[in-house]
Amino acid sequence: MFDHPAYDAHESVHMFHDAETGLRGMIAIHSTHLGPAAGGCRMWNYETGIDMYRDVLRLSQGMSYKNAMAGLPLGGGKAVIWGNAREDKTPDLFRAFGRAVDSLNGTYWTAEDVGITPQDLAYASEHTRYVAGLDDGEAASGDPSPVTAEGVFRGIKVAMAHAFGNDDPKGRRIAVQGIGHVGADVVRKLTKAGAEVMIADVAADRVADLAAETGATAVDVADILFQDVDVVSPNALGAIINEETLPRLTCKVIAGGANNQLSTPEMGDAVKERGILYAPDYVINGGGIINVAAEISGKYSADWVEGKLSRLMQTLDEVFNESLQSNQATNRVADAIARQRIGR
Ligand code: NAD
Repeated sequence: MFDHPAYDAHESVHMFHDAETGLRGMIAIHSTHLGPAAGGCRMWNYETGIDMYRDVLRLSQGMSYKNAMAGLPLGGGKAVIWGNAREDKTPDLFRAFGRAVDSLNGTYWTAEDVGITPQDLAYASEHTRYVAGLDDGEAASGDPSPVTAEGVFRGIKVAMAHAFGNDDPKGRRIAVQGIGHVGADVVRKLTKAGAEVMIADVAADRVADLAAETGATAVDVADILFQDVDVVSPNALGAIINEETLPRLTCKVIAGGANNQLSTPEMGDAVKERGILYAPDYVINGGGIINVAAEISGKYSADWVEGKLSRLMQTLDEVFNESLQSNQATNRVADAIARQRIGR
C-alpha cells in the first residue's frame, strides 16, 4: 500500500467498517501542512477495494493542490464510501460515516462530492461538526456551483488576455461542454458579456431551454470540442483532453470547470506543443472550495470569498506567466507551485 503509485507520501489513510449499517469507506489525508485536510466525500460502486484506495489517494492529493492554489488555510483530504448511491443509502449509513469523520478529531473536514447530497451530510452532521456544504446552519454556504462558475468565467477572461491580448468576451466564439450546475451559469455570463456561445449536453431538454434563454447555439455532443472556436470550456467530464481529441481541437484556449480534464500530465505538454493555452482545472475551478472554506471558518463572509476568488485569478495569471518564461506546460507549473506551497 505504501508503494502504490498514487501514495505520494500521504500522511494517513483510514479504513472504516460499520457492521450494522454496512458502511465501508476510506478517508485519506494527503497533507495538513496548511491546515486541517478538507475535501468532499464520494459514494461509488468500486469494482475492488484497491480501486477505491487508488481513487481516494488521487482525489485527496488533488485537494491538497486545489486548496493550496486557492490560498486557503486547509490541507487536502478526501473520503470515499463503497456502494451504489442510488440503492445503498440509508440515514444510518451516513450517521456511521459521521462517526468515522468525528473519530479523526477535526484533521479532516468532509463535504459533497459525486453521489452525495446535502441531506446525506445532514445525517452525518448529527455525529460530527466537521461537515461543510450544508444547507442549514449558522455558517451554511449552500451550493458552491455559482462561485465556481464565477471563477470559471473570470478565468476564461484571464486566459483570453494571454492568448489574444484582449480579455473581452464580446464577439469571441466559445464552446461549452456540459451545462449542469457550473456550465449553465458560465454560459449565462458569457452570453451576457457578448460572446457567441455553443453548447452541448447529453440532457437535450436542458440544452433547448438554455439556448432559448441565452441565445446560445445547440451543438451535437460528439462535436462540441471540435467547433471552430477561440475557447473550449469543459464543464462535464474528466479526461476529455486525450490522444484522440487533442489532434482535432482548433481552439486557442481550454478553460473550464471540469475536474481532471487532461487524461495524463503528459497531455498538458502536448496541449502546449499545439499552441493551446490550458487553464489548469484545479486552479480555475477553485471558487467552489473557497465558498466551502468560508463555511469551515465558522462565519461565512461574501467579502472574504470575493477576496480569495480575486487572488485565485491572480494566481492563474502567474501560472500563465511562469509557463511562458520557463517554457513548461501550465499544468506542470501549477503542480510545482502547489507542491511548494504544501512543503513538498
Ligand atoms: P452537473 O452534474 O450539474 O453537470 C454536469 C453536466 O454535464 C450535466 O448536465 C450532464 O448532463 C453533462 N454531461 C455528462 N456527460 C456529458 C457528455 N458526454 N457531453 C456533454 N455533457 C455531458 O455537475 P457540475 O456541478 O456542474 O460540475 C461540472 C464539472 O465541474 C464536474 O467535472 C465537477 O467535478 C466540476 N466541478 C464542480 C464544482 C461545483 O462547484 N459544482 C466545483 C469544482 C469542480
